[in-house]
Amino acid sequence: MAVRFDIISQGEELLAGQGVDTNAPWISSELQGVGLVPGRVTVVGDALAAIREVIEESAARAAVVVCTGGLGPTSDDLTRDAAAAAFGVPLEESAVGLAQIEARYRSRNRPMPPKNRVQALLPQGATLLENPLGTAPGFLVDTGCCLCFFLPGVPFEMKPMVQAHVLDRVRDRFGLAPRRTVILRTVNLAESVAAERMDGFERPGVVVGYRASFPEVQVKLHVEAGQDTAGLTTEAVARLGPPFVFGVDSGSLADVVVGSLRARGQTVFTAESCTAGRIAAELTATAGASDVFVGSAVVYADREKVRQCGVPEAVLAEHGAVSEATARALAEGARARSGADWVVAVTGVAGPGGGSPEKPVGTVHFAVAGPDGTTHRQVRLPYDRLRNLAASVAVALDLLRGRLLNPT
Ligand code: ATP
Ligand code: MG
Repeated sequence: MAVRFDIISQGEELLAGQGVDTNAPWISSELQGVGLVPGRVTVVGDALAAIREVIEESAARAAVVVCTGGLGPTSDDLTRDAAAAAFGVPLEESAVGLAQIEARYRSRNRPMPPKNRVQALLPQGATLLENPLGTAPGFLVDTGCCLCFFLPGVPFEMKPMVQAHVLDRVRDRFGLAPRRTVILRTVNLAESVAAERMDGFERPGVVVGYRASFPEVQVKLHVEAGQDTAGLTTEAVARLGPPFVFGVDSGSLADVVVGSLRARGQTVFTAESCTAGRIAAELTATAGASDVFVGSAVVYADREKVRQCGVPEAVLAEHGAVSEATARALAEGARARSGADWVVAVTGVAGPGGGSPEKPVGTVHFAVAGPDGTTHRQVRLPYDRLRNLAASVAVALDLLRGRLLNPT
């Protein structure tokens, strides 16, 4: 029988459209990953009665409820009062909770502000859930029919708490078979296309989920114990198209690129016109990038392409800045000057202005120069300016990744 869950996202800013609820989709995906079935997601503001009503409703209809937000110390943080009212119990101070909050302030050499003491209050009978990354602990109310989890709203505090306190408890309570989740990470593949290619892949013990985090799309295989995980993974990669899958359970595209450069003992330099250093920023977001990343030239104006990367003026005059010839000249010139093993070069029209009939907005040329020559790719991106730039970073890194797949 299906075990249903409800999610409550508490926060006036979410209700008013001043913030986007990213907690609910994330939690939903995690709970589906352990075998639960989504029931209802509710967004509720800062009114005590409204929060109480939603908690009562969800606790009566779902087997698992996860509520985030409103556990802070301020007067608009009403979730713990609402929970106590919904379950008809008083709030009690948790000595353990108070000690954890005090210890957190002590570790930062600051006294605990008196108003933070309310964060140690829990509905009577609730189980404290430690929050290692913030002051507000969470708590669990087990009604016998329903496990109701209350967690802080800040995503970076909430996520590890779901993993530490929610998933195993839910699995144990409802006797759900342990599952393994395989994450296939793709770029240059629209979510709808990925879903089309995976159509009919599900079978007993195998559930497929998707998560789009532009420009990356993740395809998740939730696989029950006893299934051939390796075989399923191979089959799914073949369906999606191997060039699109940059990693299985891996880090980001930049992590994969930095990892393979490190394994080869090679370095990279970027020569960036339209992306203006974004590729460099993405590479250096990866820990340990200093082993492989040597630097970047931001060459927005034509004269900087000439000055910093040695692009011949004749190439610019004949082909224009947004061209295959300029992309190749940027990559090769920067490689000669920087001494890096690899150079990724980009030049394009991000929009909204600057397009022409021959070079419409979204036209981007990429070149990768390496020990075994230079390759080029041209794309026509359909997005707005910032998304065109984000997609350009992904295409550039993916082009380099493709080159690094070949043995040196
Ligand atoms: P705090 O102790 O920080 O006050 P809290 O549990 O009271 O934690 P909220 O005050 O509701 O949490 O939210 C804190 C911040 O966390 C919000 O300003 C918002 O940036 C983020 N946040 C809260 N709920 C969500 C959500 N559902 N999705 C995305 N972000 C959220
Ligand atoms: Mg708050």
